Amino acid sequence: MIVVMKQSARRPDVDAVIARLQELGFDGQAIVGAERSVIAVIGQVYPELQGELEVLPEVHHVLRVSSPYKMSSREVKPDDTIIEVRGVRIGGAETVIMAGPCTVESEKQLMTTAREVARQGANVLRGGAFKPRTSPHSFQGLGKPGLELLAMAREETGLPVVTEVVDPRDVELVAEYTDILQIGTRNAQNFPLLQEVGRSNRPVLLKRGLNSLVDEWLLSAEYIITQGNRQVMLCERGIRTFETGTRNTFDLGGMALAKELSHLPVIADPSHATGKASLVPPMSLAAIAAGANGLIIDVHPEPEHALIDGPQSLDFPTFEALMTAARTVASAVNRPLQAPIAV
Ligand code: PEP
Ligand code: MN
Repeated sequence: MIVVMKQSARRPDVDAVIARLQELGFDGQAIVGAERSVIAVIGQVYPELQGELEVLPEVHHVLRVSSPYKMSSREVKPDDTIIEVRGVRIGGAETVIMAGPCTVESEKQLMTTAREVARQGANVLRGGAFKPRTSPHSFQGLGKPGLELLAMAREETGLPVVTEVVDPRDVELVAEYTDILQIGTRNAQNFPLLQEVGRSNRPVLLKRGLNSLVDEWLLSAEYIITQGNRQVMLCERGIRTFETGTRNTFDLGGMALAKELSHLPVIADPSHATGKASLVPPMSLAAIAAGANGLIIDVHPEPEHALIDGPQSLDFPTFEALMTAARTVASAVNRPLQAPIAV
């Protein structure tokens, strides 16, 4: 249920409605819009509640929301959410590029890549320090030393960093070093982890679960937002289907649907979606044309020697060519690439 306040309502009026909701055993979360404020009612609502709330001062009307996700729904907040990270605006009129190695392997590998993607105009540096691997015998990432290298790369290039957190116990540590917390596909329905990043004040890049429906993906976002962290971006990274020619099936239709249903920014990951470097440039352009607010791309100085995900990683010349093509397509659809921050 959504309480839509009158345009004349002020913060104390909103607080009074939230206090009344609390008396009734509900949680109320205010969303302050450009024109008016609304309050999302969190909890198992009953039909009579609508009338009980409509009589409160400065309440315009009360809506029953049909979607199971409220906080991430456009029914509640029609305008796009914009997330600001160290001067980079994600979710607005411009397209952002996140790029970097799948995994932080060494100082040399990370710094070389960070400098190159910065030079090519990327806005955010990616790199995993904690890696969720299918096999416990595989390399699990450098851990804390990897976070320290990411912080060093940010210091030099000025690029904000996105890195994955896989364990609720590590959220505080990873948040100390990173600008955006990434939730990987395997953890997209790890509810305690989602709630823990929801209690952090860092923006979150939420990958779609490899077998998640769009609705389930948005409900995962809801787990984060209901803990108080509104800064969630959705990332389409491919889902599992019967097709084995590509690593996953890049669901651009699902991405466009998520954008239609939700006000949250949507980022496309054509690297993990296709698993094949040659398919990354065409699918990147398709994602921009389909409305992605940004891309996240695996880039490696020597993909053939990458410890993880070499086959899908772009080398530097290919990334440069992709940036040129992305600039053209993004401008053509009126969502130009965001100018990189001055290094
Ligand atoms: C990654 O981005 O490094 C990653 C592991 O992605 P995903 O969770 O989408 O597989
Ligand atoms: Mn990877």
